[in-house]
Amino acid sequence: MKKLSDAGLEEFNRMVRGAAHAVISTHAHPDGDAIGSSLALARYLSGRGVSTRIVLPDPCPENLAFAIDDTASEFVIDKPREAEAALKEADLLISIDYNSPRRTEHLEEAVRSVSGHKVLIDHHISPENGFYDLVFSETEVSSSCELLYDILLRMPEIGEQAERLGKEIGTDLMLGMTTDSNNFSNSTWPSTLKMAGELIAAGVDRDALLENLYNNYRENRFRFMGYFLSKKMKITSEGVAYAVVSADEIRSFGIRDGETDGFVNIPLGIGAVRMSVFIKEEDSRDRLRVSVRSKECTSANRFANLYFNGGGHERAAGGRLSVPAEISGIDEADEYVEKCAREFFSAENNKESRP
Ligand code: 5GP
Ligand code: MN
Repeated sequence: MKKLSDAGLEEFNRMVRGAAHAVISTHAHPDGDAIGSSLALARYLSGRGVSTRIVLPDPCPENLAFAIDDTASEFVIDKPREAEAALKEADLLISIDYNSPRRTEHLEEAVRSVSGHKVLIDHHISPENGFYDLVFSETEVSSSCELLYDILLRMPEIGEQAERLGKEIGTDLMLGMTTDSNNFSNSTWPSTLKMAGELIAAGVDRDALLENLYNNYRENRFRFMGYFLSKKMKITSEGVAYAVVSADEIRSFGIRDGETDGFVNIPLGIGAVRMSVFIKEEDSRDRLRVSVRSKECTSANRFANLYFNGGGHERAAGGRLSVPAEISGIDEADEYVEKCAREFFSAENNKESRP
């Protein structure tokens, strides 16, 4: 990670000192990094006497609910009207783990209407220009949690002493760095491992966290995983593994939000696969949500950007397709992916995208 500028850190510290009502905003369908970084920041701001709320466009998925203890539950708002009211009152907005207010979906307008100071803390490619007063954008980190850790360590009262953050903030930060790096299997930088070591030394119980994260799923997830791998996954001649699952299939396995997280990574374990695409029909049936993962020399970001109105990171990206505006129905999704794969790998499109 590049060194954060002293001027930016001083400005952030001044903004926090001057804030009365802070609102932390993160992306729709929040993942471990969105939840972990928001909670860590909320605990920190609250510790500095700032009244703080986290506005979630969608509820926290059940498999991450363990992270929201009694103190944290005071911060979290996931009801649209309450979220809009909190945003209206905010004199400090901190957007974390997204690169544009567009990623807050139905809260976008309320986020854009905030009149107070606006800060972005994020690790995705291409942060939106113009909207924020202060931007911390760094792509060479595992997660927003890692970038936030670096910012918090540099606050005057923390003085680079991780133990001064406390175990709760440390555990929240460890959560996001662990999930976004797939438990240190991707996006792992020297700074990532250094941070993990410092947090463990500061008393974070990583074993307990891993138990909560990876050994506490419901059986349904694994039944559905078997179905996904044996019945749904296809592999194109270009080496694109893909699966399209309908809302009915998801319902018939009793799958809840968050319970298919990580499925998209599994096909990358096949030597011949260069990219993996996982497509899920939303309950409303008017949208397909898309996750894309790729191996080295193939840009998931570019694929998501070209064909699925999305983006993200070089090897982990996402997007969506509207039905029937962009694709007439889920039945056509297989054919659409096959066509995109052919085009992408025949043209110059699969070159790595530049930040
Ligand atoms: P996931 O597949 O886990 O939902 O998302 C993978 C990555 O792509 C995440 O970093 C996420 O923030 C990003 N991403 C997911 N959906 C979208 C989208 O619609 N637009 C953009 N720009 N990024 C997305
Ligand atoms: Mn993230």
